[in-house]
Amino acid sequence: MKRIINTEDVIPIISGLVQKACYELSDNVLDAYKDALKKEESPYSRDTLKLLIDNAEFAKKEQIACCHDTGTTVIMMEIGQEISWSGKPLIDQINEGVRIGYRDGYLRKSIVKDPLDRINTNDNTPAVVHTEVVEGDKVKITAMPKGGGSENMGSFTTMVPGEGIEGVKKFVLDTVRFAGGKTCPPIIVGVGIGGTMDYCTYMAKKALLRPIGEHNSKPLYAKLEEELLEEINNLGIGTLGMGGTVTALGVHINYFPCHITALPVAVNLQCHASRHATAEI
Ligand code: SF4
Repeated sequence: MKRIINTEDVIPIISGLVQKACYELSDNVLDAYKDALKKEESPYSRDTLKLLIDNAEFAKKEQIACCHDTGTTVIMMEIGQEISWSGKPLIDQINEGVRIGYRDGYLRKSIVKDPLDRINTNDNTPAVVHTEVVEGDKVKITAMPKGGGSENMGSFTTMVPGEGIEGVKKFVLDTVRFAGGKTCPPIIVGVGIGGTMDYCTYMAKKALLRPIGEHNSKPLYAKLEEELLEEINNLGIGTLGMGGTVTALGVHINYFPCHITALPVAVNLQCHASRHATAEI
């Protein structure tokens, strides 16, 4: 028998999640900052990292945004196939949750109605919503406010298959080098390899949700993550571009089968304000 959920139920959940994500960096992210502080050799980057830690702790305590740019609201939903929805259209209720969350949480509204006429929607809607159908009768909702500085510096390419692992590494490194301090490092580097153009970029974004320190379960990709992390940190960009030994906190790769003629690669960069919050209904 199907479990029926009224779409109205997602409104308070989403409004709470966007606020929590903007106010509270997870312990995983804070621990990664503190770990970076132990490794960082540049005094400028060390001082800046200490400020980032203080800032994150203050934002959590006072329940205020840890960064002024509260981003595009990305909502990822895993919807159990035994769910049936009742009520108004789900997409409208998701956006209502975003609208209320940003209004009541005093979060900056950063979305323009049309990319060319540039008029602000004044409520941070519409959200960018991704859904996946999974087994079961639960719904997992993740809110991921994504700041402009880091999102603007992502990239995508389709290589010929012969470029292989070395081609992938060069593309990821070139993307991070070109981005420099504009992504507000230390960053997390999400990489999608394979699939189609659209799915590859989705995988890169979803990779940013993986806890820092956790590797891809396939040894080939876990090794590539480690090698890329070392080479990215050797770029010397440092915290907020101050120069230093820690530029990235992690490299997370997702992969998917792809066409015989193609090797798609996407890079989605996440600034130090790595914000996401999840709930299950
Ligand atoms: S890139 Fe991240 S840390 Fe920098 S301003 Fe944007 S949201 Fe804030």
